[in-house]
Amino acid sequence: MLLKEIIGQEEVKKRLVHSVQENRVSHAQLFLGAEGSGALPLAVAYAQYILCKTRSNGDSCGSCPSCTKNSKLVHPDVHFVYPIALKKGEVEKSTDVATEWREAFLENPYLNLSDWFSHLDAENKQPIIGVEESGEILRKLSLTTYEGEFKIVILWMPEKMNIAAANKLLKILEEPPDKTLFIHVSENEEALLKTIYSRTQLIKINRISDEEIKNALTEKKQLSSVDAARIAYLADGNFNAALKLIAESPEENLHLQKFREWMRMIFKVDIVGVVSWVEEIANSKVGRENQKAFLLYGLNILRECLVEMYGDKKLLRVDGEELVFVKGLSTRLDGNICKQLSDEFNEAIIHIERNGSGKLIFTDLSLKCMRIVKQPKAATA
Ligand SMILES: [Zn+2]
Repeated sequence: MLLKEIIGQEEVKKRLVHSVQENRVSHAQLFLGAEGSGALPLAVAYAQYILCKTRSNGDSCGSCPSCTKNSKLVHPDVHFVYPIALKKGEVEKSTDVATEWREAFLENPYLNLSDWFSHLDAENKQPIIGVEESGEILRKLSLTTYEGEFKIVILWMPEKMNIAAANKLLKILEEPPDKTLFIHVSENEEALLKTIYSRTQLIKINRISDEEIKNALTEKKQLSSVDAARIAYLADGNFNAALKLIAESPEENLHLQKFREWMRMIFKVDIVGVVSWVEEIANSKVGRENQKAFLLYGLNILRECLVEMYGDKKLLRVDGEELVFVKGLSTRLDGNICKQLSDEFNEAIIHIERNGSGKLIFTDLSLKCMRIVKQPKAATA
């Protein structure tokens, strides 16, 4: 990957390029960025840049033999370590599923852990970086470099290392072989071992801005600017989520239809309707990202209702069908009800992130919403 193929992250790119030009590449780095921010593709593009024979304009060339190998993730001096579904005697280290890894990454460099595990057909397995991995790293680092100056290890999700693996890795980090570079790519600072954190140089990868996601969607996915803007808004800085949202609703606003239908049933206390509605949204095909995006959409609508009720109407961000819906819904809400509904939506999002059952979460949420909207509404000014 070229650095310019990475969405946004201009500041970090500049910093990384500068460190290479100045010959000040730190041997252990930690790319810390939330899911969908592009920390992993950035690490891959950075490795390609470091090893490129003919860099120019702050990027790799993309066509020298080194870049060609890197673009297929087959460069002999770049090693990947990532969580796997351990299976004794068959899958014990990353290289045992290297082909699958290349396929999954090249298909979507912004992939998350659950995408990777579904590519492995191992959705219900525990992702782990096991102790076998450290021996494998040492073995690879002891080989002479193939053609590059550096040997680079990209370690995705160090938070999934078990203690034994982490201890062995720490020893390597303490006395790194010459000319080696470790790039740890993590999504979760809190789950990371403090010792790894303290032995690496931190490179923070921020969420991608809505504007940058919007531009990427119009350029790479040929979306209209209206659709791209709507999806960027819902994706909230996560490009992987944006890709999933396109797959779900390329042209029409399905979230609006679903949300409107749901709210009608909630106000009518239509339990039978809600049960079949929940079946639909909790369907495994919908996926957690989309369920989350749906609730984020609901939160946005509630925010718009508050603006409609109490704020300057010029600040409304909806129009057309959505505006009609917001105006109608607002007549049935007040600030207090909006606040309680928003709290419940946020709570449900947390449960979805923790892998809870969609069916239970949405059923529970629907019943809570029914109770909340039944409260007497405060008189609005
Ligand atoms: Zn090159």
